Amino acid sequence: MTKIAVYPGTFDPITNGHFDLMKRGLKIFDQIIVAVAENSQKQTLLSLQQRIDLVNEVTKDIKAINVMTLNKLVVDFAKDHSATIILRGLRAISDFEYEVQLASINRSIEPSIESVFMSPAEEYSFLSSSIVKDIARHNGDTSDYVHPSVSEVLREKYLK
Ligand code: ADP
Repeated sequence: MTKIAVYPGTFDPITNGHFDLMKRGLKIFDQIIVAVAENSQKQTLLSLQQRIDLVNEVTKDIKAINVMTLNKLVVDFAKDHSATIILRGLRAISDFEYEVQLASINRSIEPSIESVFMSPAEEYSFLSSSIVKDIARHNGDTSDYVHPSVSEVLREKYLK
C-alpha cells in the first residue's frame, strides 16, 4: 500500500529546512503532498501562487513530492487525497507545545490520521521563514538558507 503523507504549512517562503524535512520524510513515506496554506492566520509576504511556485521549483526533481493548495482542515485534506499521515517539523523545544496541541486537535477530529514529527539536520534547526525574511529585508545574503530562486524572489520583493 502506498504511504502518503501531507506536509502542511505556510511556506512563506520555503527554506532549506523545509526541503531537508521533505527529503527525510521520503525515507519513510512513498509520497509527500506539500499542502500550502491559503488562509493562514499569518499575514504572508508572498502570495499563495508565489509560495506554491517556489515549492514547485525547489522540489521539481523529486517525483514523489506533489504541491497543492490547502484551503480546508488538514485532516479533511488528507482524507481527500488518501493520505494517512501528517508530517510536521520539530526544530526546538519551542516548537513542541504548539505542535503537540495541533496533533491532539487533529487526532480528536480524525482518529485515523497520525501525526509524525521529524527533526531537520542540525544546520537547519535554527532556520525559519521569518529569519530568512528578516535577512532579506536588510539586504543580507540568504543563499545559505534558501534555494536561489527563493533568494531572487525575496530580493525583488524588498527592492520595491
Ligand atoms: P506553519 O505556519 O504551519 O508553522 P511553516 O511553513 O512555518 O508553517 O512550517 C511548516 C512546517 O515545517 C512546521 O511543522 C514547521 O515546524 C516546519 N519547519 C519550519 N522550518 C523548519 C526547519 N528549518 N526545519 C524543519 N522543519 C521546519
